[in-house]
Amino acid sequence: MLDLTDRIIQTPTLTRAANDNLKWHAPRRLLQALCGVLLVLLPFTNGLRLDLRRDEFYFAWHKMAAHDLFLLLWVALLGTALLSAVSFLYGRLWCGWVCPQTLASDFADSLKTRLDKAFQTRPGRPRFLLSRGVWTFGVLAVSLGTGVTLASYWLAPSTVLSAAAAPWHDWAAGLTVYLTAFAVAADMLWLRRTFCARACPYGPLLSSLTDQNTLAVRYLNERDDDCIHCHKCEVDCPMGIDIKQGVGQHGCIGCGECIDACNDVLGKRGKAGLIEFRYGTDPERVTRTLTPVQRLGLWDNRRWGVAATVPLCLAVVLFLIYGSLPLAASLNANGAIVRTASVVSNGYSLTLSSGKPQPARLTLTVSGLPDARVQPNAILAPGRDSATLPITITSSASSVKPGRTPITLTVRDGRTSEAVQTIFYAPAH
Ligand code: SF4
Ligand code: SF4
Repeated sequence: MLDLTDRIIQTPTLTRAANDNLKWHAPRRLLQALCGVLLVLLPFTNGLRLDLRRDEFYFAWHKMAAHDLFLLLWVALLGTALLSAVSFLYGRLWCGWVCPQTLASDFADSLKTRLDKAFQTRPGRPRFLLSRGVWTFGVLAVSLGTGVTLASYWLAPSTVLSAAAAPWHDWAAGLTVYLTAFAVAADMLWLRRTFCARACPYGPLLSSLTDQNTLAVRYLNERDDDCIHCHKCEVDCPMGIDIKQGVGQHGCIGCGECIDACNDVLGKRGKAGLIEFRYGTDPERVTRTLTPVQRLGLWDNRRWGVAATVPLCLAVVLFLIYGSLPLAASLNANGAIVRTASVVSNGYSLTLSSGKPQPARLTLTVSGLPDARVQPNAILAPGRDSATLPITITSSASSVKPGRTPITLTVRDGRTSEAVQTIFYAPAH
């Protein structure tokens, strides 16, 4: 998370020199680029992938087994807690700084502007169609790459790449890639900001997750006399919003471009900008008297509570992935008792759990019985799950006493072991 703290504390008394430093565009672009790289890397490195064909789910480079549903539940809770906390504390910051939809829209808009500049053209001028043709080609190429990336969240990357190259060999995978690419292309070519403003379900959800102290972009009405009505804040706004009309407008994605625009304009006149990121709408609240925790948005107990759910869920998820529980074993005689001229054998059902997240090789030994052997004497226990399997304990008929003999079965995993007491029964004949 970016440190917002020092940038938030703007007051009307800021000098021009200080104001010149308040630029949000570069850090936002950097965070968007990092999110874009992560979006591509996650499925191709098995950092996050639900393979529908192989019934495999990868989270944090950990392959979850079918019995890891408990972990899956906590992963979902972690995602919900993170989104809720970010929304509650920082409002639309997710939309403007992290959301892939905004990244796609920004890319398409930025590419269009750069190409028009490179071709030195605009609507109605020569080479305008050429500029738009190159733009469309670039958007289609990125859409295909995005289609391959998104499909790799649901299918094996090798399958997706083969299907992208030759969809007629695997129609289902090919359709997944090209329909996804088509949806992304339609979004980048035509929808873009319209989706954010009218169709995205996060907007209405957000209004139920925020309150009067949530971070928002705010025009400083109290300094309205300083506005020179240049409209640069509106022109630079990707959503076409006039932030002077009020805080918390529905389409505002919290990108901060209007803040940079006003800082540029008024900075040249030696004044501080008129638009800021602020917690809430009360102008008196954002002052130099803010405590460090308030600067992070932790104004009250509710915020502390919501924020605390994130490390809590993260700790549970990490424990479920990497933590270990004690080795556990229990033994039940299954009544299969056999005596031959040379041996006596008893059958048991062994239930054990290695307690580890990954499969573990366990060894079995028996004590308390002469010439005792256990079959099998080595077991591959599944990760984070219990397993029940039949085992047989055998003793030589000549050395075992008829009747009941207390014995101990030891299950060993490296330096960890678990001893289980049971009875070995030897019939007289
Ligand atoms: S009003 Fe400002 S913060 Fe909101 S979307 Fe427009 S430029 Fe971004
Ligand atoms: S950029 Fe600043 S000075 Fe210009 S219209 Fe917007 S708020 Fe007023």
